[in-house]
Amino acid sequence: MADPRGFLTTDRQLPERRPVDVRIQDWQEVYQDFDARSLEKQAGRCMDCGIPFCHQGCPLGNLIPEWNDLIYDRDWGQAIERLHATNNFPEFTGRLCPAPCEAACVLGINADPVTIKQVEVAIVDRAWEAGWITPQPPESLTGHTVAVIGSGPAGLAAAQQLARAGHTVAVYERSDRIGGLLRYGIPEFKMEKHHVDQRLAQMEAEGVKFRPNVEVGVDVTVADLRRRYDAIVIATGATAWRDLPIEGRELTGIYQAMEYLPPANRVQEGDFEESPIDVEGQHVVIIGGGDTGADCLGTAHRQGAASVTQLEIMARPPQERPQAQPWPTYPMTYRVSSAHEEGGERIFAVSTQRFVGDDDGHVRNLELSEVECVDGRFGDGIHRARAGPTIGAVRPDAHRARLHRADRRVRDRNRRRLRRRRCGPGPILDRVGDRGRSRGRRERRSVLDR
Ligand SMILES: Cc1cc2nc3c(=O)[nH]c(=O)nc-3n(C[C@H](O)[C@H](O)[C@H](O)COP(=O)(O)OP(=O)(O)OC[C@H]3O[C@@H](n4cnc5c(N)ncnc54)[C@H](O)[C@@H]3O)c2cc1C
Ligand code: SF4
Repeated sequence: MADPRGFLTTDRQLPERRPVDVRIQDWQEVYQDFDARSLEKQAGRCMDCGIPFCHQGCPLGNLIPEWNDLIYDRDWGQAIERLHATNNFPEFTGRLCPAPCEAACVLGINADPVTIKQVEVAIVDRAWEAGWITPQPPESLTGHTVAVIGSGPAGLAAAQQLARAGHTVAVYERSDRIGGLLRYGIPEFKMEKHHVDQRLAQMEAEGVKFRPNVEVGVDVTVADLRRRYDAIVIATGATAWRDLPIEGRELTGIYQAMEYLPPANRVQEGDFEESPIDVEGQHVVIIGGGDTGADCLGTAHRQGAASVTQLEIMARPPQERPQAQPWPTYPMTYRVSSAHEEGGERIFAVSTQRFVGDDDGHVRNLELSEVECVDGRFGDGIHRARAGPTIGAVRPDAHRARLHRADRRVRDRNRRRLRRRRCGPGPILDRVGDRGRSRGRRERRSVLDR
């Protein structure tokens, strides 16, 4: 146990967020650095439980008490080794994960839980800074080849593990950059993209090949892949969005979050000077009060929206863990993310009934009704209609044509790049599959010859 009295003598502490008026002027991450001594004390709050429920809360089974102990002992080098034992990308999870481990922490029964997520991200950031994270290429190749379809965190983790096991791995991605939702969904202020890039560099050095701009099923068929590779991993994510098919949905000025966020991320990547859907000076309504909604909120504020209103169908959750969601479950409590802290109005227990447009076909108002959830259902009889309140006009769609033009430019550029690649020595697949195979064969022979 790190510090037998740590949980009694030290209060939970988190790093400060940068001041709101400063951070909404830029796109950098919102948290300030947390000094190493304070973090070691936080790790010392861990009780090294006989049955560490944090393990059960963590979908990766992170060895949390082990690295808390190591950090308290200032053995940061060993801590990153234990962290990597279960987690390929702690710099992603340490920034993005909603931390069900903390909800399950035993200390949370009657006190504030250990700051597990902060310890995690601090370990990996320090390890990168110190140069402790280096490529781990396999000692020998198995001769097997694997195609991974999709380059989100799932595909990347699978690819890294397979490559380290000695297989020859290529990751196919239909988008122009590798990273999936890490790249184009999650805004820069939640995770700066250099974290993704440095992992990709490590993976390339370990032998993983990246094939962006290749949509499997369009540019290559699954049959092609099956012929070329010994195995295929499908990690294509869930890019189908959920629509709101109500009256007025066809009006212009209504966007899906994943139409709005990717171009904002592309501005940070240098593809555009300004997002084709830029809400500067506009009144914005966000339908959906979850994390993706919060990402839209933070993005809208950084673009200079005149006002932002976020609607949520569920009632405002309580501040404290509700009785029906006891420890160690993940409770639905009222959360104030960094984006919420930056402004905007949150309205709970409302359902959008209809979008109202102007004569030009632009959305202007939303009609809402207050709703109550009874036994997990929003029954018709429960709606108490409010007479068409104007929550705020969603911005007129001056930019849709620009969005299409920008999309077309990116698509054309990708196609040109793809054509150039296809003019090379052989089909794209050959370069990964065949080279891998011949290296593999050589390796196999040498093993057999021994
Ligand atoms: C806006 C937003 C914010 C989020 N924020 C968080 C957060 O803060 N914390 C958190 O834990 N989770 C968050 N999530 C959820 C998280 O991003 C996803 O759970 C995670 O990215 C899923 O990883 P994945 O690898 O399965 O899929 P994805 O990240 O979706 O990656 C799948 C990839 O497969 C590619 N692909 C699909 N079909 C093909 C094909 N035929 N050929 C080639 N490539 C293909 C796609 O282009 C995509 O790049 C967020 C999601 C969104 C949308
Ligand atoms: S449950 Fe909390 S106190 Fe117990 S081992 Fe895990 S992090 Fe430490």
